[in-house]
Amino acid sequence: MRELKERILKDGQALNEAVLKVDSFINHQVDPNLMENIGKTFADKFADDGVTKVVTIESSGIAPSVFTAKAMNVKLVILKKSTSKILEDNISQTEVASYTKGTEYQLTLNKKYINRNDRVLIIDDFLARGEAAQGAIRLIEAQGAEVVGVGILIEKAFQSGNKALRDKGYTVCSLARIKNLSDGHIEFLED
Ligand code: 5GP
Repeated sequence: MRELKERILKDGQALNEAVLKVDSFINHQVDPNLMENIGKTFADKFADDGVTKVVTIESSGIAPSVFTAKAMNVKLVILKKSTSKILEDNISQTEVASYTKGTEYQLTLNKKYINRNDRVLIIDDFLARGEAAQGAIRLIEAQGAEVVGVGILIEKAFQSGNKALRDKGYTVCSLARIKNLSDGHIEFLED
């Protein structure tokens, strides 16, 4: 997506060779016009997949996911990052390793929001090693629902997440694929 790539080049900051900071338009301050266009782009790309729910992971996935769900006219379910295990019948949890914090959290779903008839589009801001997306997939599939795809704003294509998801048969749609972040320079893969 050209608009997103241009914005990354203008306002993104390579913190080091592995981490990109996008605090001024995605993660801290949010540009709603860009988020709306991202939502429409995902809605177009997954228009023929019979999506019944959009699922994201708090908190940075929420802004683009709201616009995606709105453009697809479906509900959005936000998976929570809990620090502890919750022993309740209606709660489903799975452990995920946080890429940026280097710690683990319990990705948490209230089971009443996803059922076996759902066809789910997962949206997240970044794809690094694919831990967050795979955690979301575990929770969704445990409900008997189907994951029709994973929509990512920024994929770091030099890390293993895309391969991990594709090897398991999932469709990954990344709007900006970064080839390299070395020396403070941001380089994209060609579409
Ligand atoms: P993964 O689970 O794919 O290893 O990492 C994805 C998650 O880690 C995303 O939800 C995102 O919040 C965070 N993340 C991974 N890499 C980056 C990065 O380069 N910059 C930022 N801001 N977040 C990242």
